This record gives sequence, structure tokens and C-alpha cells, in this order.
Amino acid sequence: MTTAASSSGLKADLCWGCRRLREVAVTDEGGRTYCVSCAPAPAPSKAMILLDFLLSTVPFQVGDRVSCKTGAQIYDGIGHVVEVSFDPKDLASPVVPMFRVVMEEKAYPEMDDEAWYSEACMSLAGADG
Ligand SMILES: [Zn+2]
Repeated sequence: MTTAASSSGLKADLCWGCRRLREVAVTDEGGRTYCVSCAPAPAPSKAMILLDFLLSTVPFQVGDRVSCKTGAQIYDGIGHVVEVSFDPKDLASPVVPMFRVVMEEKAYPEMDDEAWYSEACMSLAGADG
């Protein structure tokens, strides 16, 4: 459904919420129209469903203890995953999630307290040690 208003003006239709002829804000899957004040709370969006699916398939979860390497080569240390991102702003994508790791055992003192890693740069470190 396009929400763009045409030059002929905004589309008005019968609102299924208040049963008045109102400017249509939302049209649901069944073709029912609602005004802005009656618009139903959005159902889980496709993006949210996709995110749930992706989170169920990622190799590491929040709380996992992981060993991390920069560029899959330089050992950085061991830490815990605190965030999983699919957001391009974190250099991630829907198929290449990035994992934010808070370091507990740094391999070298210059290591940041936390860093983002991709799957290729991480391995499970076990419960302890
Ligand atoms: Zn209404």
C-alpha cells in the first residue's frame, strides 16, 4: 500500500475503528482502513520476524564466552558476547551479523575493553578457563 498522497488530495475512507469517514492512515491485510487515531498497533513487522529468525540461526548468542581474533589471525583475548547486530552501521548485514564482545582476558593491554567481531574472528571459549 502506498501512503503517498496524490495531487487530488488525501484519501478518505470509512474507518473500521470509529466508523467515520476519515483520512486513511493505515490499511490492514484484509483491506480494512483506519484513521490515524484508530490505527491498530502494528503487528510484528517482517523485519522483526526476520530478526528473530536470524537470531535463532547465529552461531553465537549474547552471553556466550568467546575467544576473539582480529582479522581471524591476531589473538585479542576472551570475552563475552553482549550484543548481536545485523545493522549496517555496525558493519554488519542480515547475513553477516556482528558480535559485540566485552573483553575479560585481554591478550595485550592496548586491546579495547570491547570490540565488534564477525563470526570468522570468534570461537567458543567454553564455560570458563
Ligand atoms: Zn477511526
